[in-house]
Amino acid sequence: MADGYALDADLVVLACGVHPRVGLAQDAGLAVHKGVIVDDELRTSDPHIRAIGDCAQHDGQVYGLAAPALEQAEVLAELLARTAPAEGATGYRGTRALTRLTLASGTPLDLAAFGEHTALPGDDVIQLTDATRGTYRKVVVRDDRLVGGVLVGELGTVGALARAWEGAEPLPADGAPLLHLLTNDGGS
Ligand SMILES: Cc1cc2nc3c(=O)[nH]c(=O)nc-3n(C[C@H](O)[C@H](O)[C@H](O)COP(=O)(O)OP(=O)(O)OC[C@H]3O[C@@H](n4cnc5c(N)ncnc54)[C@H](O)[C@@H]3O)c2cc1C
Repeated sequence: MADGYALDADLVVLACGVHPRVGLAQDAGLAVHKGVIVDDELRTSDPHIRAIGDCAQHDGQVYGLAAPALEQAEVLAELLARTAPAEGATGYRGTRALTRLTLASGTPLDLAAFGEHTALPGDDVIQLTDATRGTYRKVVVRDDRLVGGVLVGELGTVGALARAWEGAEPLPADGAPLLHLLTNDGGS
């Protein structure tokens, strides 16, 4: 590292997020916090200017991901195309997006994260680590609902987990089906 500290690791993943450059919007007099602030109609503080994607902050959140940018683009297209105010489009309510990344250089590494993956007091956490396969899986359950998770190295179960998360249905009480969801690729 810059300070001479040697990190003993084969791979380092630096998750530092993104920070939109908001100077232009700020100079134009738009309301800006982390990003350009928009309402449910993707409208900035100037009603004639909309913002979507990496530069936009909706409901406190700057997503910095492709899926929310695309969803915002779709909603905005619908809003702009409607002919009467009451017709059709309901606006943007935020994106419940699963983040999926593939790091392709050297040994490929798959990673998926969704929802809240830091447990609050009282949450149940199921965590499986397999150093031989290079996999890590963690899910967080609050009351009887799956609220988030992280999968690294093996994403075979990501579809089933994401459906349980998106559906926000109560999980069966004995926990066994959740463990099955976490391991049904035949893993550890
Ligand atoms: C290396 C990298 C990897 C990523 N991997 C993932 C991933 O795996 N999954 C994921 O969900 N997201 C990923 N992202 C984030 C994703 O790319 C962005 O969230 C998404 O592209 C945002 O869309 P956008 O339309 O806001 O901006 P952009 O896609 O950046 O589009 C902005 C466009 O504006 C153009 N532009 C800029 N300035 C001007 C100007 N002055 N005049 C005219 N045109 C201009 C640019 O050329 C560009 O085409 C990654 C980003 C990077 C940088």
